[in-house]
Amino acid sequence: MTILSYAAQSATSPLAPLQIPRRAPNADDVVIDILYCGVCHSDLHTARNDWKNTIYPVVPGHEIIGRVRSVGASVTRFKAGDHVGVGCMVDSCQHCAACNDGLEQYCAQFPTVTYNDPHGGEPTYGGYSEHIVVTEKFVLKLPAGLDLAAAAPLLCAGITTWSPLRHWQVGKGSRVAVVGLGGLGHMALQLAKALGAEVTLISRSPGKEADARRLGADRIVLSTAADQMAAVAGQFDLIIDTVPYAHDLNPYLPTLAVGATLVLVGYLGELDPALNTTAMVLQRKSVAGSLIGGIAETQELLDFCGQHGITSDVEVIRIQDINAAYERMLKSDVKYRFVIDMASLRATG
Ligand code: NAP
Ligand code: ZN
Repeated sequence: MTILSYAAQSATSPLAPLQIPRRAPNADDVVIDILYCGVCHSDLHTARNDWKNTIYPVVPGHEIIGRVRSVGASVTRFKAGDHVGVGCMVDSCQHCAACNDGLEQYCAQFPTVTYNDPHGGEPTYGGYSEHIVVTEKFVLKLPAGLDLAAAAPLLCAGITTWSPLRHWQVGKGSRVAVVGLGGLGHMALQLAKALGAEVTLISRSPGKEADARRLGADRIVLSTAADQMAAVAGQFDLIIDTVPYAHDLNPYLPTLAVGATLVLVGYLGELDPALNTTAMVLQRKSVAGSLIGGIAETQELLDFCGQHGITSDVEVIRIQDINAAYERMLKSDVKYRFVIDMASLRATG
């Protein structure tokens, strides 16, 4: 079947309408009409080939909220009309140790990701499209009561910050810092606060203070002000760093408590300047990384957000505005996630 999407044809061409193939559903598949799709900085990295692995044409989008159109004969958990979510993965090997532990994101064969994945021959195409076909196990139930557009970013920005908060056992009294107030950062503030943590935003941008406080920050530190960074020496049990590009981690290490961890979720690649290990060795500090979250953990997050009424601050856009949205994202001019109303795609066709 051929469907309408928005795709990038090269690292320098703007996204534009394109017909793409969608596979025919199997017995264990759910066919989902896409209602909303969040815009993650990873979409931009991929469209512009920042990670040197993009297969063109590429259809980004891995924060998908949709309505079930139909289900295969063996599907038991969903029926036509249900509101569902699809995040960054659409499959995995489902038999390695990681998959057996519910850590599909660390699948030994690497999970099949929602777009730009060559696993099955034909690359996967993401959520900037009319519909998607996903095996039941990778479809998430959306709790009732959450705004559909504002829930979309939970599927990536939400789970990517939830997973380290849970892994490092953040709870009442934990001291958590979040570096960067963008899509991931604004979810991290809300989730850490709801888990009972004392929360600090570390930002390079003056002027985000009021928003940060509204989202749950107890304190704001300007990363460019050495005196403000010095004032939080030894303060944090966990730092979640969401900055998308290479940056100097060394000023952050002194702000960790003894034995604490800075977890990178934003930047992939070599550190520049290099990491000085002295602060780590002398005080058993760690620098770690974390990738999205498993399927069960994503369902846990959605249920938690349903219980606590947590969603994303979104600016709903039309698909025709996606290229302008990317430019604004590069200037950190997003409060705090663009979400595409996919009804606009049909206006294109
Ligand atoms: P975003 O909305 O663009 O937010 C990034 C924030 O980082 C900005 O708002 C800004 O906050 C800060 N920042 C600092 N230096 C920057 C610079 N040179 N350019 C732009 N922003 C800078 O991005 P996002 O969607 O949250 O994604 C953040 C990163 O996480 C991306 O690299 C994305 O690919 C990655 N990601 C990783 C995973 C994973 O599984 N690990 C999952 C999803 C996304 P301040 O103004 O407050 O400093
Ligand atoms: Zn993402």
